[in-house]
Amino acid sequence: MDNKNRVQELTELDKKHFLHPTSSIKQQQEDGPAFIFSEGKGIYLYDVLGNKIMDGMSSLWNVNIGHGRKEIAEAATEQMSKLAFSSCFSTFSNEPVIKLAEKISQITPGDLNTTFFTSGGSESNDTAIKLVRHYWILKGEKDRKKIISRKKSYHGLAMGATNATGLKPFRDFSNTFSPDFCHVDDLSIEALIELIEKEGPETIAAFISEPVQGAGGVHVPSMNYFKECRKICDKYGILFIADEVITGFGRTGKYFGMEHYGVIPDIMCFAKGVTSGYAQLGGVVISKKIHEDLIELSTDTFLHGYTYSGHPTACAVALRNIQVIEEENLIENARLMGEEMLKGFKWLQQEQNIVGEVRGLGLLGAIELVKNQGTNERFNKPLAPLVVNEAAKRGLICRSVVFEGQDTLVFSPPLIINKQEINKMIEIISDSLSVVKQKNYEKELI
Ligand code: PMP
Repeated sequence: MDNKNRVQELTELDKKHFLHPTSSIKQQQEDGPAFIFSEGKGIYLYDVLGNKIMDGMSSLWNVNIGHGRKEIAEAATEQMSKLAFSSCFSTFSNEPVIKLAEKISQITPGDLNTTFFTSGGSESNDTAIKLVRHYWILKGEKDRKKIISRKKSYHGLAMGATNATGLKPFRDFSNTFSPDFCHVDDLSIEALIELIEKEGPETIAAFISEPVQGAGGVHVPSMNYFKECRKICDKYGILFIADEVITGFGRTGKYFGMEHYGVIPDIMCFAKGVTSGYAQLGGVVISKKIHEDLIELSTDTFLHGYTYSGHPTACAVALRNIQVIEEENLIENARLMGEEMLKGFKWLQQEQNIVGEVRGLGLLGAIELVKNQGTNERFNKPLAPLVVNEAAKRGLICRSVVFEGQDTLVFSPPLIINKQEINKMIEIISDSLSVVKQKNYEKELI
């Protein structure tokens, strides 16, 4: 069968048998898969037709060390051949999970010291939510069960994580509005205090936030914001959870995003970059204080765990991935290339009159599209999705964010990217913006 026929056959099977995550079902039926990927190498993906495309999103903000790394495959093979899986329930353990837990305690800031492992980001946030509620039961403050999160936040799509997610369409989707979840205005400290006072501090278990909001449009708060949040949490006895699912493991130019703000959370959730996507793994790191309280106050079984909590192969992959991040200085590279990317965005701002605010921290970046650079006025219809399509045609994957009236392009390339590749990325974005502008002027859409 030639390649074209193979794609046709796969397309029909995809439409019929595969329900895609976070997708437009109608578009899948009409267009079929945009790409059927078959290989990855460095910052590039290749599809079954041999098309090469730059992975400007590290796939889902996660392939930090880039695609096709043989050393990770070898680490997985070695561990799978020895012991692919064994349980960590009760007091069973295995060597990779112990070593990884130790490594994570070394690289996380402050007294974050002990890790509960999961299979991904949503499970990590669900775990954190259950864990803080359990903690308050043990501390004799059973009423403390409310979780405060921020309005443009994304915390994943398991039940607890969906409830915590501030972007409302994700909750509307399945009518998910459980009690005891509150969403606060994004950047306002006053709004946070007001909400706490209104709800009653004695009913609030924890505040959760991403250091940089990712799926919500790459929003970087002011350097003071989290310091203030931390102070308020301490004042009211509320636990502070950092959702480092995107920002962890070097993405922002530091090991963990909260380090930029000089804030140490009580609990930190991670996933994605811990394995760069080579295996499914996430986790929740708790402070020494919380761990000691749990040890002292627990009287019964800790009734929370997933089959794959502490999966030996996933943990072996994580250890090797972290070794690559450190040996190749990828965190420093993320910082330096992040500066290059932001420089590129600022150049675009001058070259293209539809580029509004640009922002970034390390290799997390965003470009807002506006009708008028002076007034920040938006187009009637968002242009970002059209730019994403044009970029894909020119060999670059990026993403659009159109929630809450935004018209934004976001980027999150692998941490191995170099200056030349950043320039190529900027060139493709520039060409794509020009084409979209042109086409839309013609159609008088703007
Ligand atoms: N938290 C954040 C900040 C995320 O960006 C994501 C995923 N994009 C999640 C949690 C959920 O992770 P997962 O999809 O692995 O469940």
